[in-house]
Amino acid sequence: MKLLANVMEQVVKRNPNEPEFHQAVEEVLDSLESVAEKNPQWVKEGIFDRIVEPERQIIFRIPWVDDNNKVHVNRGFRVQFNSSIGPYKGGLRLHPSVNVGIIKFLGFEQIFKNSLTGLPLGGGKGGSDFDPKGKSDGEIMRFCQSFMTELYRHIGPNTDVPAGDIGVGGREIGYMYGMYRKIRNEFTGILTGKGLTWGGSLARTQATGYGLCYFMDVAMQSIKGKSFKDATVVISGSGNVAIYATEKVQELGGKVVALSDSAGYIHDPEGIKLDTVKQIKEVERKRISEYIKHHPKATYTEGCAGIWSIKCDVALPCATQNELDENAAKTLIANGCYGVGEGANMPSTPEAVDLFIENKIVFGPGKAANAGGVATSGLEMCQNSMRYSWTFEEVDTKLKDIMVNIYKNASDAAKEYGKENNLVAGANIAGFLKVAEAMSAQGV
Ligand code: NDP
Repeated sequence: MKLLANVMEQVVKRNPNEPEFHQAVEEVLDSLESVAEKNPQWVKEGIFDRIVEPERQIIFRIPWVDDNNKVHVNRGFRVQFNSSIGPYKGGLRLHPSVNVGIIKFLGFEQIFKNSLTGLPLGGGKGGSDFDPKGKSDGEIMRFCQSFMTELYRHIGPNTDVPAGDIGVGGREIGYMYGMYRKIRNEFTGILTGKGLTWGGSLARTQATGYGLCYFMDVAMQSIKGKSFKDATVVISGSGNVAIYATEKVQELGGKVVALSDSAGYIHDPEGIKLDTVKQIKEVERKRISEYIKHHPKATYTEGCAGIWSIKCDVALPCATQNELDENAAKTLIANGCYGVGEGANMPSTPEAVDLFIENKIVFGPGKAANAGGVATSGLEMCQNSMRYSWTFEEVDTKLKDIMVNIYKNASDAAKEYGKENNLVAGANIAGFLKVAEAMSAQGV
């Protein structure tokens, strides 16, 4: 009988119809069985029962008016999951698939990820089922303003500091920040991912993608003596994380041959030309299929799942949850892939993760491998508090140190608990220990 089985049962009972949340909790609790055995006082203090229940969940109405004066109503969420080691911190996602279960899974993962960074950051997440695709700038602005008209009550530099995620980049953070400043008459660090002229940090835009590569580089070198040099790499997505992961892989001497979006994927065996991708995605905000108009030797295939059939040494899923399943994992392994690093949150299904671990693939779970984004958000908060800015190199150096430390801590924890090189278990355990100690010290 597993010590934590009743905790999982309670989660399923209390949060019906939230499969992503169940999946995220189950993975963490599985890794924590040995921690519970070693620390029976934490079972007695209800640390495990408490950590799976958000401290607060806020659901609100977001009415907004489109360019034809039609009124729309979306639903907004902010889940404040755990603040025992710092203010809630985690992104805002704008995507039609968003619901409370998705936000809870992301908020739960965020607790451990933020703890792993070594910075004083609690865990939270938010967003809306609003679909930004095809909306005009004016519509995006009015939506973001309406969103902040409610959210402002619940956040603050010492309470909760949201950031970007899918569908939320610099433009959206700008509109939300402007509304907060108007309502509160206060210029303060309540969001991260801000523009450089109004409190943003250099290297925040690049941080998640760069951090992913720093993490995978040290993990692959330590475990397999391999690196990105001359490696063929497949990356899914073509948003913020995918673009800057591509940039860093190329800098480290690897060749990225494929990218995707939710409609399909491009394959350029000569290596993706990143300037073209940045122009299409960051400037024109168009579909990745446009790429082949500029580079006719590349191919475009509809549907994104097939991207994992392209032969590669390293795969970096950087789009969304559960995008890489058991079959995709089998194909990657059969094709000789030796490293998988999760830029997205929970992109691999549990069956795929099991296969990677069984086959001794160097597997960097999102919680650890994509923590560079929130770590640099933490550095942005630090600069805001000091009313001072660091140079790009200063932030990038700190980011690299943080990613190497995350690897080290996850790897040491895995070893200590008898799961050498299992970075899933290592990241869950190392992230949990710090939060559990804080919760225990602060009482029920
Ligand atoms: P963006 O919105 O910039 O890009 C998302 C990319 O993923 C787009 O190419 C998008 O395609 C694709 N995508 C989104 N949903 C789906 C779907 N259901 N199926 C297939 N493709 C999809 O987001 P980010 O790059 O910021 O985020 C990507 C992932 O990284 C997310 O899981 C996020 O939680 C995670 N992450 C992001 C961090 C950050 O700092 N930005 C930090 C840590 C993790 P399309 O345009 O067609 O929708």
